[in-house]
Amino acid sequence: IVAREWHKENSIIDIKGVPLGGNQIQIIAGPCSVETEQQMEEAAKFVKEANCRLMRGGAFKPRTSPYTFQGKGVEGLDLFRKAADKEGLPIVTELMDVRMLDTFLEYDVDVIQIGTRNMQNFDLLKEVGKINKPVILKRGMSATISEWLMSAEYIAAGGNHNIIFCERGIRTFETYYRNVLDVTAIPVLKKETHLPVIVDPSHAGGKAWMVASLSRAAIAAGADGLLVEMHPNPCEAWCDADQALNPGELKSLMGELKGIAEVI
Ligand code: PEP
Ligand code: MN
Repeated sequence: IVAREWHKENSIIDIKGVPLGGNQIQIIAGPCSVETEQQMEEAAKFVKEANCRLMRGGAFKPRTSPYTFQGKGVEGLDLFRKAADKEGLPIVTELMDVRMLDTFLEYDVDVIQIGTRNMQNFDLLKEVGKINKPVILKRGMSATISEWLMSAEYIAAGGNHNIIFCERGIRTFETYYRNVLDVTAIPVLKKETHLPVIVDPSHAGGKAWMVASLSRAAIAAGADGLLVEMHPNPCEAWCDADQALNPGELKSLMGELKGIAEVI
């Protein structure tokens, strides 16, 4: 179903009236994690000010250590929904557990993110395949492109064709950066699937100063959008502080991208 041979035209995913795919590039920005009401209200205001039309934020966080902040959970969904609604921004947030799906639907989460660690959680994929909400499917950190395509197929097989691929960097022997952004995956996926492909430059590089460069590369290579971490005050971020852009940096990134493609 996800294969280009099944559907020749580029698919456009409608996210509460915001189109993603085709020639319509969207920059999704926001903090790694939902922290407080004030942080989310400020973040939403800055996302809007930068002219981004979609907002990200994690309420359930897949942390490597069980002793670090795990996310605000349902309270976080509530804070996120309210802050984003004030600015009229659809929300993107990660679902880690099938048992939370009904709660995500209650909060009318606009885009369900499946994280790198769950790309092959087939039961989770089957469940999001039964609903009609757009799904961002991140690439597993060591997944091949055919495994990634097959994971999308799990979602599509259930009837949900609103899938967006997200390249977020793959495991590398290099230690200078967090992951290596696989720019090559962009033209490969564009050839293999009609579905949109976006890039997360934040989790790829792992450092804020790398984000603009990786973002330009992604858009120049044909990505349909970006998923970028931005925090009102990066030094104080509870999670992934090193890679968060500040509001000014997000604004200037938007300007730079306009020189490469039509970013709306
Ligand atoms: C995220 O986007 O918040 C995240 C945890 O990313 P990934 O699943 O790519 O590590
Ligand atoms: Mn993060």
